[in-house]
Amino acid sequence: MATGPRARLHSTGIMNATTARPNPLHTARRMAALEPSATLAMAARAAALAAAGKDVIDLSVGEPDFATPAHVCRAAEEAIRSGKTKYTPAAGIPALRAAVAADYRRRAGLEVSPAQVVVSNGAKHALHNVFTALLDDGDEVIIPAPFWVSYAELVKLAGGVPVILPTRLEDDFKLAPEALSAALTPATRMLLLCSPSNPTGVVYTPAELRALADVAVAADLAVVADEIYDQLVFDGRENVSFPTLRPGLAERTVVVGGVSKTYSMTGWRIGWTIAPEPLSRAIGNLQSQQTSNPSSISQHAAVAALTGPQDCIGEMLAAFQRRRDLVAGRLARMPGVRLPDIGGAFYAFFDIAPHLAAGRGITTSAAWCEQLLEREQVALVAGSAFGAEGHVRMSFAAADEKLIAGLDRIERFLAG
Ligand code: PMP
Ligand code: GLU
Repeated sequence: MATGPRARLHSTGIMNATTARPNPLHTARRMAALEPSATLAMAARAAALAAAGKDVIDLSVGEPDFATPAHVCRAAEEAIRSGKTKYTPAAGIPALRAAVAADYRRRAGLEVSPAQVVVSNGAKHALHNVFTALLDDGDEVIIPAPFWVSYAELVKLAGGVPVILPTRLEDDFKLAPEALSAALTPATRMLLLCSPSNPTGVVYTPAELRALADVAVAADLAVVADEIYDQLVFDGRENVSFPTLRPGLAERTVVVGGVSKTYSMTGWRIGWTIAPEPLSRAIGNLQSQQTSNPSSISQHAAVAALTGPQDCIGEMLAAFQRRRDLVAGRLARMPGVRLPDIGGAFYAFFDIAPHLAAGRGITTSAAWCEQLLEREQVALVAGSAFGAEGHVRMSFAAADEKLIAGLDRIERFLAG
């Protein structure tokens, strides 16, 4: 293999590989380190196999299988009919910013104003906005692993440095305050938390979050609290919003939320940040240059979701909890499989390390998922994509029959 400057040019795509001439469309350096979203990539592969006639069970992507509630769809139809099809203010229509603020006030008990809310194209975009608005080159962001696939990539895109802190299944994959303290450097700028967690389903208790909050305050960190699964908690657990835990936290915390999971609206692309006003203004400015407003029609639908009847959430939650019981129960009985207590969201993140060490030629979670897809046509996502090799993630936001058939196939695969 060639080495030296020429090889580097090839590896960054600066030279055209076939003609050895400079490639005018060579990508920027920031693209070289960018991983594609493993969740979306696996979902696309499963969809392609299904389109080719294969009997695929896709438990890869985390997306509620329920229809978007009818009253939400009607609000979107009405928005189209009444001509609400034009640009809106970049940070979102006033009615939606007010509805997000009111919903948060009602549920979290913390007073926030509509001006603190910026509506974005999904929570993923909201996260991108936060990192872009807050991080300078080299700023370190502490991310407990396992983490959602897009966090580290979005931080890198914004010039930040992800500092990944592994956690252990034995500790329910929770970050301990001592581990957070030990990871602090003069460059640490931010702590990123996700509870209920994607990919583990683990929910921190208020006391555990308070202990992390104390470290964040002492070290003067910004905190990004990804609370997109905040209403999807099981067994009557208490779920508290991070800034409500201590006085003084609201000034340093950005809450990320959205309608994707709670109202089964993944395709509508509406998420938001709740942040102090000066930061919200900065995020609004950024968005005004980068994307303008999220879809006007989706925004009107999201107002209906937040202000209309909320019983759809309870119905979905009951289904997710039933499926959690089914999936966690069966997985826990499979030999060589371990998983944490799933308190929320809709994922089972399970340890398959004994199977990878069993000498059957499959030694990584990615290879294990490949083989599972090939031999049993079940799509899961490798733990390595979430910064936790030795595990795999299964979404249980799918119909019961699919889950049962998927578990049967996984069991057969593990036994084979
Ligand atoms: N945060 C977490 C933890 C998620 O699981 C997701 C999944 N989509 C997002 C953010 C992004 O949500 P959205 O679809 O609204 O962009
Ligand atoms: N958050 C979901 C998941 O983790 C949706 C896909 C994505 O945006 O990554 O599967």
